[in-house]
Amino acid sequence: MAAQIWYENDGDLSVLDGKKVAIIGYGSQGHAHALNLRDSGVDVVVGLRPNSKSVEFAKEQGLEVKSVPEAVAEADVVMVLAPDQYQKGIWENDIEPNLKPGAALAFAHGFNINYGYIKPSEDHPVFMVAPKGPGHIVRREYVAGRGVPVVVAVEQDPRGDGWDLTLAYAKALGALRAGAIKTTFKEETETDLFGEQNVLLGGVNKLVEMGFEVLTDAGYQPEIAYFEVCHELKMIVDLMNEGGLNKDRWSCSDTAQYGDYVNTCIDEHVRERMEYHLKRIQDGSFAKEFMDDQAAGAPKFKQLQEEYSNVRIETVGPKLRAMFSWNNEAAKDADEANS
Ligand code: NAD
Ligand code: MG
Ligand code: MG
Ligand code: MG
Ligand code: MG
Repeated sequence: MAAQIWYENDGDLSVLDGKKVAIIGYGSQGHAHALNLRDSGVDVVVGLRPNSKSVEFAKEQGLEVKSVPEAVAEADVVMVLAPDQYQKGIWENDIEPNLKPGAALAFAHGFNINYGYIKPSEDHPVFMVAPKGPGHIVRREYVAGRGVPVVVAVEQDPRGDGWDLTLAYAKALGALRAGAIKTTFKEETETDLFGEQNVLLGGVNKLVEMGFEVLTDAGYQPEIAYFEVCHELKMIVDLMNEGGLNKDRWSCSDTAQYGDYVNTCIDEHVRERMEYHLKRIQDGSFAKEFMDDQAAGAPKFKQLQEEYSNVRIETVGPKLRAMFSWNNEAAKDADEANS
């Protein structure tokens, strides 16, 4: 069955007329949602902890900022854009006790609803508008007159206006310029976790680290190893984005292509690992492991962050990147966007 995709004409901004949207959090996604909705004419209030550094940033942009309980109390739509592991606590302490009857609850990732960490009562519409790109790109594209595609879902629809609200929100975010694909909280959560764990982060990062270590252990120069297993990756990924796997193969030499087919380290046992990890995502055991560690003050997470920031490729990475002068402007732009 073909996916359902909505575009600009499918969303009606007037659905949000006279409604107040509270954006909880002002990080990567929060700033983009607040600013894009505001610039689309939506009445926005940002909810933050009073001592948060983001309060000043949001005010500088001309946004109205309140405490989370105050912002929620006046909102018809509450978009929760705090980090996933804190959303349950924010929900219990600041959102649920202050939510207007019938106010809609929205998310940019299905984690807390899918795994039951947040259970809104049935009178609240619950929807998702999840950008398939980082928040800073969501803002940059909106300003440029374009949009980042989103996946959208409705989990609870007590009045029957859930999809109208979802598409109006997606339009105000600029996302319908690119397209909104219909999904469910379950599908978005499970595929998002699977992708980041096995391919986008966990997969690629391990390939790069291990490739670098195998080459340098074998006596090759780190500068050369870095180029071969890290620096060139972006160019291959750009080709993949333009034209899929066939385009990245087409642009490489026949030698590279033949090696891709017969000399890859990714084999059927990697598929088995992927299927095992998918099961841990589906049965909630990955989510539980992550949330239990967070609840204990994140000791394992912090230890892993420390360990992985010192893998061998990163002990030489900064020096190597600084050598590539053509890289510096792009890196600086990226750092600024992420700061
Ligand atoms: P972030 O870490 O960049 O920002 C989180 C914000 O929440 C910060 O402003 C922080 O100050 C605020 N915050 C933390 N605790 C708070 C509290 N108790 N009360 C109020 N505000 C609090 O987070 P993010 O990466 O934008 O992620 C937000 C949501 O968007 C998550 O559900 C995430 O899965 C989803 N998402 C993120 C991306 C992305 O590009 N980063 C992409 C798609 C979906
Ligand atoms: Mg994702
Ligand atoms: Mg994710
Ligand atoms: Mg090469
Ligand atoms: Mg080559």
